[in-house]
Amino acid sequence: MTGFGSQHVALLMLLGLAACAGARQPATDCPAPAVIIDIGHTAVAPGATAASGATEHSYNHRFAALLAKTLQNQGRTIHTVEITGPDPRLDRRVEEIRSITYGITHSLVLSVHHDSVQERYLKSRLVDGVERLYTDTATGFSLFVPAETAVAGDSLAAARSIADRLIAAGERPSRHHAEPIEGENRRLLDQERGIYAGDFLKILRTAEAPIVLLEIGVIKNPADEQRLSDPSTATAVAEAIAGGATLPCRVTSPSAARIPG
Ligand SMILES: [Zn+2]
Repeated sequence: MTGFGSQHVALLMLLGLAACAGARQPATDCPAPAVIIDIGHTAVAPGATAASGATEHSYNHRFAALLAKTLQNQGRTIHTVEITGPDPRLDRRVEEIRSITYGITHSLVLSVHHDSVQERYLKSRLVDGVERLYTDTATGFSLFVPAETAVAGDSLAAARSIADRLIAAGERPSRHHAEPIEGENRRLLDQERGIYAGDFLKILRTAEAPIVLLEIGVIKNPADEQRLSDPSTATAVAEAIAGGATLPCRVTSPSAARIPG
């Protein structure tokens, strides 16, 4: 009995040690990263056109403001990147993101976009007497991350965290970017969570801090557009993304060396 008791005590000690080891770096102790919200496209180069005729940029702008407010209400530090004026060059955006993230020790870039589909899936209909293109095929969110750079691991971890929150909030991932057709054929990194390799996008390929490009939903699909235009749905989506905007404790971004511990 004594032997059994000793083993029992040893087992308890082992379990205690394991619990302590596990308790040293629980996710809740990780510092929340500052979030750089990049508003996709510009007023003069507004991206996709929604089924209603509204521009993607107007959707990006509105959702970015909601996301910023949600993060600020949670006490998070945010910065917003918005390219204005007649020059919509992507290099301006890349440079601005780089200059902001360079000065922050722990940051996550979220580039806000709304999605469309390839031309072959477009149909035509009249909206308020105006002919508009729409689709009834793809629906849902897609997340793009760099897969071949130094920040790939942390970007994927952040995308998984965001996707899990979105799915828990009732959103569904779209796999239409993986379809083997011209213009798509994107590599799925996580099929269950709708996460794709996005190294073909300069903003992701050049990022020096962890980054996730969010396609919030397919605004070319009238059902998705209507749903995402509803303030309560948009608020729930913003809260899900804000809650998921985390990074692993071990950060591999170039600024990681400045993080204490
Ligand atoms: Zn876009």
